[in-house]
Amino acid sequence: MAKYTGPACRLCRREGEKLFLKGERCNSDKCSFNKRPAPPGIHGATKKKASGYSVQLREKQKTKRIYGLCEKQFRGCFEKAENMRGITGDNMLILLERRLDNVVFRMGIATSRSQARQLVSHASITVNGKTVNIPSYLVNKGDVIAVKESKADNAFFKALKEAKNALMPKWVEFDNAKLTGKVLELPAREDITQEIEEHLIVELYSK
Ligand code: SF4
Repeated sequence: MAKYTGPACRLCRREGEKLFLKGERCNSDKCSFNKRPAPPGIHGATKKKASGYSVQLREKQKTKRIYGLCEKQFRGCFEKAENMRGITGDNMLILLERRLDNVVFRMGIATSRSQARQLVSHASITVNGKTVNIPSYLVNKGDVIAVKESKADNAFFKALKEAKNALMPKWVEFDNAKLTGKVLELPAREDITQEIEEHLIVELYSK
């Protein structure tokens, strides 16, 4: 599966907005988007009139990059959303939010989704007492998400234990001191505060 391995900050410049891909750095003075917001490449700063197609494509690329998915995974998520009852765009975003890597990020266990994905892949996270090392695992209401006991003594989790609980959306809770949290509700569309115009993605994929 093709995976982007270039600089994450380049993606923010390409999409013309901060995608918050690098944890704490994104909220600091070191954020390179603040210094150099123009798209990468020698013609990056040249203003071009965007076609309808390119607006849809950019919105899809942006959303895919926020959640750190490759095209095949993202398309698969869209197709799953299409087969569910309700509004396809809402379903797609809710499925993305329910991914275990995203939940680990939302709970403040990791500072970015890529770090969260690494924690999950390295078998550091349990769901209802069982180790789950699949970042795309979809959580359900009531699931208990915790740091695996055998990993709790490593430096990263020791620091997390002593840190203040992060601000998190109302549908999850996490207690740093106990390294345990819970999915209180499934997320709703309005819980996703990052600006995403999902109807553009639906239009693009429905062509
Ligand atoms: Fe984007 Fe800034 Fe974070 Fe880099 S540091 S990923 S440019 S928001």
